[in-house]
Amino acid sequence: MNPGKKQLHVLLVEDNPGDARLIQELLRESNSTEFEITHAMRLSEAIKEISKRAANIILLDLKLPDGAGLSSVIQIQKAAPEVPLVVLTGLNDEEIAVRAVHQGAQDFLVKGHVDHNLLVRSINYALERHQLLARLNHRYKKEFELSQLKTRLVSMLSHEFNNSLNVIQGAMILLQETESKTTPEKKEYLYEMIKRNIQSLSNMSTNLLNMGRIESGKFAINPKKTEFGNILKESMDHLEIFSKNKGLDISLNFPETPVSVKADPEALALVVTNLLSNAIKYTPDHGKITIGIIPDSINSNQVEIYFQDTGIGIAAEDREKIFTGYYRTKNSKLTTMGFGVGLPLAKDILEAHGSILRVESAPGKGSRFFFTLPVWNDKDLENPFPSTTSRSSFEN
Ligand code: ADP
Repeated sequence: MNPGKKQLHVLLVEDNPGDARLIQELLRESNSTEFEITHAMRLSEAIKEISKRAANIILLDLKLPDGAGLSSVIQIQKAAPEVPLVVLTGLNDEEIAVRAVHQGAQDFLVKGHVDHNLLVRSINYALERHQLLARLNHRYKKEFELSQLKTRLVSMLSHEFNNSLNVIQGAMILLQETESKTTPEKKEYLYEMIKRNIQSLSNMSTNLLNMGRIESGKFAINPKKTEFGNILKESMDHLEIFSKNKGLDISLNFPETPVSVKADPEALALVVTNLLSNAIKYTPDHGKITIGIIPDSINSNQVEIYFQDTGIGIAAEDREKIFTGYYRTKNSKLTTMGFGVGLPLAKDILEAHGSILRVESAPGKGSRFFFTLPVWNDKDLENPFPSTTSRSSFEN
């Protein structure tokens, strides 16, 4: 083996010993590539070889005793779908060779009209084309999956909007039609229900709008002195309807003096609302949620902010996937409606702040989402804008 040369394993399927010898000699002339050739005289023999060892390329004669024309192309492709194929034909078989290329062969060569350069070039082109095709197929598959995901999302969304609007409408009709007979408690209950549904519609649309802005690169962050407690309070007020309804105990573990961080307040509010609303959604009734700020163990100019719950938890295999977008764990689907948009949004926003959203969790034992942010320093006034990730640094 020559270490300076490219190594390629060729499976040559050719029943004519003279033609096979010629091809082998032409391949041996190559200075740049060392061809290791396995020669099969029959289609059945070639298929056996494929099952034993993968080739980098297959050269297939279209007239074999046990397989002729397109049917041999189909059989070889079935046996080795990942291996590029060049077909070898006689002078009068060009039409069938073209059909073989339509069938998925990368190229064809007319026997008797092949020299060393043509053969090696055809093999190299076939390899390149095959790789390109594989990349395009991969991309197409990804795009297709994403478009299916988005179609599902739109249908789930319409369903969820419809549900909430129906609840709101039902409660309003009840309030209107039974105005005089309804007790104050019942009225309060119905108003709460309306508020809850309006709030969840508003959360959903805020997330989707911002996700769209991030995906199209139109999300700008503007870090400034931001008191974390204020952001959290606003978010807790919005979500109180949900936490009260479930009888959740929410406690804060904050330092005595208020902590100001260097962050974009609106963007940070989205992060906080998503993490808090998840903690509420995925914690069963009467569970406990703690939101805390502690000094970062590595960098004293930073604080760690965490959201801890006693909820359903997340299995190890799901812990990365939940940040990728539109992904929901099996358990969470049984618990409540959702779209898998909030966490990716929170993660992107924190990345734009130079931070990372992490999670520690165990199924049935609860979850702890946490991230760090720089503590505001008055010197920051001189340079209030840290570098942001390219995805979020566009102006609106
Ligand atoms: P959504 O909650 O709307 O589905 P998110 O992007 O906020 O979307 O969360 C993605 C998934 O991560 C959720 O569907 C759920 O499976 C999981 N998850 C998020 N937060 C929690 C949590 N606190 N406890 C358990 N699972 C969670």
